[in-house]
Amino acid sequence: MIGLALHAQIPDFEVIDGCLAMGGRSVMDWYFETHDCPPLYLYDHAMLTERVAEIKRAFPPVVKLHYAVKANPMREVVQMIGTVVDGLDVASAGELAIAIQTNVPRSEISFAGPGKTDLELRYALEQDVVVNVESANELSRLAAIASKLGKRAKVALRVNPAFELKNSGMRMSGGPKQFGIDAERIPEVLTELVGLPVDFQGFHVFCGSQNLRAEAICEAQTKSLELCLELSEHAPAPPRFFNIGGGMGIPYFPGDQRVDLASVGAHLADIVDRARGLHPLVEIVVELGRYIVGEAGVYLCQIIDRKVSRGETFLITNGGLHHHLAATGNFGQVIRKNYPVTIANRLGPDTVLERVNVVGPLCTPLDLLAQSIEAPRSEVGDLVAVFQSGAYGYSASPHSFLGHPPPRQLLV
Ligand SMILES: *Cc1c(COP(=O)(O)O)cnc(C)c1O
Repeated sequence: MIGLALHAQIPDFEVIDGCLAMGGRSVMDWYFETHDCPPLYLYDHAMLTERVAEIKRAFPPVVKLHYAVKANPMREVVQMIGTVVDGLDVASAGELAIAIQTNVPRSEISFAGPGKTDLELRYALEQDVVVNVESANELSRLAAIASKLGKRAKVALRVNPAFELKNSGMRMSGGPKQFGIDAERIPEVLTELVGLPVDFQGFHVFCGSQNLRAEAICEAQTKSLELCLELSEHAPAPPRFFNIGGGMGIPYFPGDQRVDLASVGAHLADIVDRARGLHPLVEIVVELGRYIVGEAGVYLCQIIDRKVSRGETFLITNGGLHHHLAATGNFGQVIRKNYPVTIANRLGPDTVLERVNVVGPLCTPLDLLAQSIEAPRSEVGDLVAVFQSGAYGYSASPHSFLGHPPPRQLLV
């Protein structure tokens, strides 16, 4: 347990001799293992396992849990998660290449995302994964490629519903969107499936991301499932699955409350029963990215310089926006807030706090990891830890901006 009140919203990590630890070893040891030591993302194997186990305990057993690879596509992470979830959702050929190297069956890998190229569609067909079709045009292209290859495509339709997920960090449905086929057009597209070399699999509805309110999540899941049931009446074959999205977020900022997992689970049990009453064999899929990996990752960088400017202290590190765009508030956030940040190797009982700004080496004022936080008194050479960094960190950052070395990643 980290004995610092300001980190109330982060999960418990071990502290060994006043230093944050992961995998039974201090992060200093992990960080300084090599001689040139660029910043490091550490991912906690035990916490990933525990998070998935917790979700599975809360959800009814008939609900399938998929991992959205986009949240953290590191090969070792995806491979590890692949052993504990039921399926993987990918959104590019690159992610698909990683997914097919896991032990997840091809029928449980689905490929969503607008603008799939002919090459990507062909790759999906060759690998026999499910394609979540995002437009009528994409369906025709997929069917044409399938004909040429003499194969049948496994097709689900991604639906853009008329509703949205309320109170979400990012809304991905409702109104005009580049994602999915507008719900009102789905019956027409379903009639087009007949005669094409495709096998209808089901529907995919994804409304939004980073939501902490169980009520809002449950409401969106109810509406998504009802929509799937309604649209199934127009389907050419019984649906094999309904992927009703996810959107469960993690707490980042003071005052953020954890999602009430038990109520999401209880609600899922209710609505799944209803769906199975109508379609006894249908699988209900929930896809989660951030909720599975977000809390298991810590980003570490080293203090290179300390300076005082007009009364404010700046810790200048070798890491920042180029490695961790989201922590600087530049990845879709409306208002910049501090991620939980501390000095990893100053967590002993005799810690004295000071008020600091933590910045990176880039020549832009956007390169701000923490603004006016209370952190243990530090020195040059110490390690800054940014928590809640397992999702949308490494892969969602502009590594080549300003030409510094990229960060390292380790699953421990
Ligand atoms: C981004 C995305 C996800 C993952 O969202 P999280 O907020 O990380 O859980 C799941 N499904 C689709 C279709 C997505 O685009």
